[in-house]
Amino acid sequence: MAISDNKKPIRKPHVNASCIWCSACTAISWDVFELDENGLSRVKICETYEGKDVDDSIAACPVNAISWQETDENGNYTNWVEEHKNI
Ligand code: SF4
Repeated sequence: MAISDNKKPIRKPHVNASCIWCSACTAISWDVFELDENGLSRVKICETYEGKDVDDSIAACPVNAISWQETDENGNYTNWVEEHKNI
């Protein structure tokens, strides 16, 4: 998807439906991930996700459930991406 020149892409981690609630990401990036009421990892609301060991959580996830996704300026995923849905 093309991004206009005057808008900087903002990225945010995303957890898809493959999560097996192992808690690796919540241990590594406790300030980004938490387990929801169903035991699935979810992304906390943060002003920025840079410099928060997200890449280490992506590498540690045993089922490759975490990826970086583009967001709008309000932190909402773009391109019809939804939390816990496969992309
Ligand atoms: S590391 Fe992966 S499988 Fe484990 S809780 Fe996080 S997203 Fe889920």
